[in-house]
Parts: sequence; structure tokens; C-alpha cells
Amino acid sequence: MNDTKLTDSASSKLAPKPLVFSGMRPTGRLHLGNYFGALKNWVGLQEKYPCYFCVVDWHMLTTGYENTSSLKDNIREMVLDWLAAGLDPEKCVIFKQSDVSEHAELALLLGMTTPLSWLENNPTWKEQLQELSKTKEELRTFGFLGYPVLQAADILLYNANKVPVGQDQLPHIELSREIVRRFNSFFPDTFVEPEALLTWSPKVPGTDGRKMSKSYGNTIQILETEDSLKEKIRSLYTDPTRIKSTDPGHPEPCAENPPGCSAFSLHNIYAGEDFVKQRKSDCRAGKIGCVACKKDLLAEMAGPFAQFRERRNQISLNPESVSDILKSGAKKAKTAASETMARVRRAMNLV
Ligand code: SF4
Repeated sequence: MNDTKLTDSASSKLAPKPLVFSGMRPTGRLHLGNYFGALKNWVGLQEKYPCYFCVVDWHMLTTGYENTSSLKDNIREMVLDWLAAGLDPEKCVIFKQSDVSEHAELALLLGMTTPLSWLENNPTWKEQLQELSKTKEELRTFGFLGYPVLQAADILLYNANKVPVGQDQLPHIELSREIVRRFNSFFPDTFVEPEALLTWSPKVPGTDGRKMSKSYGNTIQILETEDSLKEKIRSLYTDPTRIKSTDPGHPEPCAENPPGCSAFSLHNIYAGEDFVKQRKSDCRAGKIGCVACKKDLLAEMAGPFAQFRERRNQISLNPESVSDILKSGAKKAKTAASETMARVRRAMNLV
């Protein structure tokens, strides 16, 4: 598997010790897109920095307020997957946003200084509004429009100056930095400007060749059984122009270079460089059939998937473990958050 590649952006003059904050919306069981998009990097970061990893359940409500019946189960399933992937509560703080009410208080105060136009011009909000409006209830809500303010509060409460993001998420951090700069202009030196910690996250194709996403129904979950993983690999989208195994293939990511091949994109993630190079040339020359190629892929993926399953089975032996971990994480998070809020209230002459 490829190594995590990290690059720090420009340093802040106020920056204290490096500290990482990141959150994930509780969508239930995780798939490979979630794993390579964030979780794998988190597992590496917990070895290098003090880290706060947060189940951002309030963010889930910004677009999913109309039905919360599966929220509790989804939180539990997601945290179990975090642990199965290797997050260790002895090495990082794992907690739930709604257990630390300071997130709401700080979001309210930051909202006082954040101009409405910044939120209305947020391109992600506009895009999601368009996309989700097709299937959702009313989305022009105060909560959804203001999610970047809550996001800034999440980061600032812990003085987190390292926020792991992929290249495409850089604008989110920039908005948080603008919110900080404006707040600091009224109440000087209250917050450190958060910095992006650029993380390597490969594009993970779904089983049908499109981007892996729950809404497309094309995911490979990190907790697939041996049989279901085998079946999903067997039915993976491959270059449809290959009728016979001797036909020249197109071993490229499908989205960027159609027809492309999902199996090849996964080889690219799981296999070594030399293998990938050789497979690319054999496929192009029609020297390997897709059935044999997928068998190799299954062999590459079997080990990491067995490890996920083994960890998750161990954790599941203690049904209280998730609630205990979240409770203890919230206690630590609350201590840090209440110190920040005391400073903010003083700065704003509220006490
Ligand atoms: S041989 Fe492998 S890389 Fe080439 S099209 Fe078939 S599955 Fe994809």
C-alpha cells in the first residue's frame, strides 16, 4: 500500500504546539472512499501529533434533520469502523460533537462577526444546495447556511493548527481562517489561524466505475466479509471494450480516461509500483485476462480486510466499549474546550 504523504502549509506566527482536529459526519459503516479519503491518514497522524477526532453529529443535522431515527446506530457503527481501521483511544481523543456544548456556544459567538455574504457565496453550499434539493426537504435553513461557522468553532475550540484535508478541501480551511481573522480584528489574538495539513488521498472508484459513494450504491465497505469482498471484486467494472482476454485494454482510472478500469485503480492503491507498471503494460498488450487480474487484486486486498475484521471482532466482544470511549473522549475534549471558552468570554467582555 502507498505511504501517507504529508505537507504542511505556511506556519502561523501565533502557532503553539502542533495539534490536529478532524471530524466525520456519522453516516454509518464506512467504505474504502471514507478510509482512503480520511481515516487512513488519521491513523498515521495519531502517531505524530496530539489529535482530536470528532463524530460531528450536529453537522449531520444540517442536511439530515428530517429523519434522525438511525443517527445513534450510525454513530456506533462508524466509531467501531474507526477502531477497526486502527484509531486508538489511548493515542488520540475520540468524541462526539454534541457531548461538548461549547461547540454550539462558540459557533454562536463566531456567527456574530461573520458576514452573511461570506456564507451565501460559499461555493460548496451553493453546489450542495443544488444537488441535495432534488431529493431533500427544505434546505435553505439557517443551520445549513451556517455550517462553515460551526466548522470553524470545531477547530478553534482545541486551538488546532493542523487540519488534515485533501487538495479539494482547501477552500473550507480558507473560510475558517477568514472567520478567525475577522474575529481577531475585533478581539485581538484570541485564536490561532488553522492551517491545512495536506494529506495524500487517492481517488477510489466504485464498483461501477463512478466515484465511490453510498448514494450511487457502488461501495466496498471496509468490513466486507470474505465472500462479499470476493463477489464485489468479481463484479467490478472493467474495460468494456475488451471482449477477449487478448484484446488490448485501457488500464486507467475510469472517470479521467474512459472507458478505464476500476480494478486497475484499486491495484494502483493496493499493489507495489513495479507490479502496477507491469500490469499496465500486460493489459495494454492483451497479455492478461480480467478474471486473472481480479484474482490478483483480491489477493492484495484480502490481508488488510482480514485485519479490519479481526480488530472489529475483538472490539465487538465488549458492547460497552464505544459508549465508554466516547464518554471518556468527551471529558478530555470538554476540559480543553472550556478553557478556550473562558478565554473567549473574557476577550468579549462577557465575564
Ligand atoms: S486486465 Fe486488469 S487492468 Fe486490464 S481491463 Fe482487465 S481488470 Fe482492468
